[in-house]
Amino acid sequence: MSMIARVTLEIALRKEFDYLVPEEFQDRVEIGSRVKVPFGPRKVMGVVTGLPAQSEHAKLKPILGVIGKGSFVTPKVLELARWMAGYYCCPVETALKSVLPVSVRKEKEGWKKQLYVRSIEPVGSPSKLTKRQEELNAVLREWKELPLQEFLKMTQSTQATVKKLESAGVALISREVIERDPYAHEHIVPTEPLELNQEQKTSMDAVLKAMNHEGAAKQSNVFLLHGVTGSGKTEVYLQAIQHALEQGKGAIVLVPEISLTPQTVERFKARFSSGKHQTLVAVLHSHLSEGERHDEWHKIKEGRARIVIGARSAVFAPIDPLGLIIVDEEHEHSYKQEEAPRYHARDVAVVRAQREKAVVILGSATPSMETYYNTQKGKYRLLEMPTRADNKTMPWVRVIDMRSEASKEKGIPILSQQLREAIQQRIEKREQTMLFLNRRGYASSMQCPTCGYVAGCPNCSISMTYHRRDQRLRCHICGHDQRAPKCCPVETCRSYEIRYAGIGTEKVEDTLKVLFPKAGIQRMDSDTLKKKEDYKKILTAFRLGKIDVLIGTQMIAKGLHFPNVTLVGIIYADLSLHMPDFRAGERTFQLLTQVAGRAGRGEVEGDVFVQSFTPFHAAIQYARRHDYLGFYEQEMEFRKDTEYPPTSRMAMITLKGKNEEKLKMSGTHLKSVIEGIREEIKDLALAGPSPAPLERAENFFRYQIMLKTKRMSQLSRRLADIHQSTKLPEGVQTIIDIDPVSMH
Ligand code: ADP
Ligand code: ZN
Ligand code: ZN
Repeated sequence: MSMIARVTLEIALRKEFDYLVPEEFQDRVEIGSRVKVPFGPRKVMGVVTGLPAQSEHAKLKPILGVIGKGSFVTPKVLELARWMAGYYCCPVETALKSVLPVSVRKEKEGWKKQLYVRSIEPVGSPSKLTKRQEELNAVLREWKELPLQEFLKMTQSTQATVKKLESAGVALISREVIERDPYAHEHIVPTEPLELNQEQKTSMDAVLKAMNHEGAAKQSNVFLLHGVTGSGKTEVYLQAIQHALEQGKGAIVLVPEISLTPQTVERFKARFSSGKHQTLVAVLHSHLSEGERHDEWHKIKEGRARIVIGARSAVFAPIDPLGLIIVDEEHEHSYKQEEAPRYHARDVAVVRAQREKAVVILGSATPSMETYYNTQKGKYRLLEMPTRADNKTMPWVRVIDMRSEASKEKGIPILSQQLREAIQQRIEKREQTMLFLNRRGYASSMQCPTCGYVAGCPNCSISMTYHRRDQRLRCHICGHDQRAPKCCPVETCRSYEIRYAGIGTEKVEDTLKVLFPKAGIQRMDSDTLKKKEDYKKILTAFRLGKIDVLIGTQMIAKGLHFPNVTLVGIIYADLSLHMPDFRAGERTFQLLTQVAGRAGRGEVEGDVFVQSFTPFHAAIQYARRHDYLGFYEQEMEFRKDTEYPPTSRMAMITLKGKNEEKLKMSGTHLKSVIEGIREEIKDLALAGPSPAPLERAENFFRYQIMLKTKRMSQLSRRLADIHQSTKLPEGVQTIIDIDPVSMH
């Protein structure tokens, strides 16, 4: 029998190709199999996306090999990838790449193999064993099976001795796959389900009903669980997962990469992995080694792990059947992938769940405008948990007007008098403080007041950040790095009166070390985290009370739970407010609320100090009062007036190129082509082309065309066509971003 495989190659050709499947591979090829095929003179990898009965092409080449056994991409996930390619305007090949982790896409199977020894029943009468061999055999019988090295160590014997057991017919040595378990050395104390409080019960009931497919058929299966920090959302997740398992289904838990801490993972492992070798929970994130990720993925694929916790791409985990997807901190922008395919994991989760009749819980203390809007429209269902489960009060938030803190002689202080005193008190009481500033480095720019020079990046249109520790200037966009000059580099100036403006975490650290010389002060940002273990090391030291004040970027804002932290200070709340982005207010509100949530998670009430130069801004004031709805309503007014999402959907086309004139012309041309679809999409609004907020990055000029419509699926389909058929000059790149979260 001849068999034909339709294959999507791992090179973006937007096309599928048919190949012949030789007899020897036929039992291993199915839809979703990974194969190696000839393509011109090359050999390329691909995924089987169909098994057509016949092909319209006459002479088919045979596939060269099959990787592993069976399907890597289930038909359901394959369909999801196809949808993603359509909606996010990218080739199916690109979408498929995101679906499989790199470690699994390897040409060779990535299993690690190791020698095992196992006890077997001798066939017939066993040959006589020596006393020593009898001893070893007894140990082996007890263990039944274990890695050879372990056995040798345990019994203080040699491989030669074990070989003798093998020839005596009582043992078998074999090379077997061992699974790397990244959490093998963690000791996790199991937990039992908590009795739910009334708010949790109400939420849980609604979720369970949906999971059991009870209730009205038209009701949405997507829930927004809007619960304040500490309201016990995690317990609801855990019990919903429990229910999925009881239904014989699996669950996916998405958390933002940054909050995928050992602490978070532990809470899930503690509930679902009793016993040392049970591996119900698999973890997928970028801190795992490639081998570990490979093994975790296969654990899921084979159905041994039924619960997956991971960042963005875990939304594609091969869980089947799927009962539940949880998206924790659904408002987080890291769910959006900033390279093709530019998908939003939360939105993909909703689409996937709909296709697989699963339930989605989107959880957040500060839901995105989009998600909350969807509950108002009846697309999602709203569950509210406005009080803390542990009966702790919400922290008291004070906004400090930094304008009155500035004095003529000394300029603007980094710490206000009030915050300084509050830190002092904590140090005396041996309580802990977290200080937050979302900018690393020492100063955000180096300037010469004499001639007005500002040290800008040679490749990007921004100033370079001064890092004092190593006396360097760095661009936080492209990574350009150079020595910080001692005097002004302008030849006619050469002034030594260099000034550093705008503060970063390094400067906060230095200031604190001067103010509190005896206190333990630690900074945590991507500059201090050089090694994989650093993150854990710092947090452990903090937990053990060896650090009094922890200073950090957004890295410390998320998900961490330290009972002894009674003070949180936000050094400069305005930083995110002044971004050239219509979501600046929303982002500031979310950030402040989240950072404030780090305080008072223990026995003592928490205080939060917010330093700001615009203390009466709505985002700051609503955050101070813990008033989400108030913020949402006033923010919606602005979005309605300006027709920004969620009142409409947005697509952003960015044109990149080295020649600015060519770029402008291309932008104008592209826009005129897009104008043509107005007939079809009546509400289409177009703006641009205009220079992007970040006009130049990595030596490329950047122009943007902004599109708004309520009919995005339709628009994205048309954009893909236009993108394909419109010829732009050499050296001009276009990037289509559907539902962008970043405007720069
Ligand atoms: P969230 O995920 O909403 O921030 P958590 O799940 O971390 O909240 O819960 C905050 C604290 O409240 C945790 O210490 C948790 O153990 C506790 N908690 C949650 N639900 C209950 C409950 N039903 N009874 C008692 N304690 C609870
Ligand atoms: Zn100068
Ligand atoms: Zn740069």
